[in-house]
Amino acid sequence: MPPSHARFAVFLCWVLVGCTQRSPEVAQTQAAADPAEVKAEESEEQALSGFLLAGPPGALTAPDTASEPTRIAADPTAAEPTPEVQDETAEALPPGMSCLLQAYPEQLCSGRGGTDAALIWCDGTEMLWDSQPEARDFEELLEHPDLADMMAMSYPLGPDAPIPAENEDPGRVRYAPFFAKMYGESKADVKKTLTKIPWGEKTLRVTTTNGVDTKLAEVREEIEALSGDLKKTGLSTAGAFNWREVRGTGRLSSHSYAMAIDVGVEVSDFWNWNKPDKNGLYPYKNRFPAEIVALFEAHGFIWGGKWYHYDTMHFEYRPDLLLCGRTPNDDAAGKTL
Ligand SMILES: [Zn+2]
Repeated sequence: MPPSHARFAVFLCWVLVGCTQRSPEVAQTQAAADPAEVKAEESEEQALSGFLLAGPPGALTAPDTASEPTRIAADPTAAEPTPEVQDETAEALPPGMSCLLQAYPEQLCSGRGGTDAALIWCDGTEMLWDSQPEARDFEELLEHPDLADMMAMSYPLGPDAPIPAENEDPGRVRYAPFFAKMYGESKADVKKTLTKIPWGEKTLRVTTTNGVDTKLAEVREEIEALSGDLKKTGLSTAGAFNWREVRGTGRLSSHSYAMAIDVGVEVSDFWNWNKPDKNGLYPYKNRFPAEIVALFEAHGFIWGGKWYHYDTMHFEYRPDLLLCGRTPNDDAAGKTL
């Protein structure tokens, strides 16, 4: 089994069964070094708490053999709905909804397909899946997405992910009511869920919701087992919990929910630190080690380095996007969610 498959199996094992394993392999470096200086400007997702440190994760390749766990595929017929889902409706659920149900089983209990598709929380709350079916531009998607929009972009798995296309930001479009209900409606609500974990020379406040604290501690232990610059980069952090809006927007940063962390600022890159090229596009840059990316992804965290609007120090807990992720083979076949 290739290393990336082994790591994905570890991730599925962890997200579906709750087991913990250590994957011994590390992936090869994802991108070429670009020794541009780290600028002092603030990253969009980055903590504001004074100084900067920190870093992000690597990708996985989903298994493609029958002997390995099945990923939620782009084809709805390949999805494996839970028994509750099968009782709920005979209509197929959107693949993205199936991934959410599998990723957060303690909070999301069922779903409904069809024209009034909805995600149903275990307390009975229903959230409409596609409340805004009309086409909207990218900025409007960022500002006012629904659940379908949130899951519309598939996250590229594995260390060989292609450079993101324009506005390809899987995970950056967030339906705020979903995260507010899951992690807390207010700063005070989120603070009730926090615990402290050590990270390098610092102590971070992170949420206990969904076991994020435990998963981050596992990532840290695996980083501690690395050596040299990898260990040093992985253990430097610019912070985790920070209740704030993304600068210049009315949107809450995912750091507000204490399920995001910034790692390795000394090798980080951020899209808005650069000027667009003559075509108005932001050139992709990344110096962050793929080995560390892979450790985070294996524990359910996506990496901001896989966004067109890249933020390579940023990681956040989105096991749903990893379950719905796509492989280089999917790219070659032109598959989408
Ligand atoms: Zn961040």
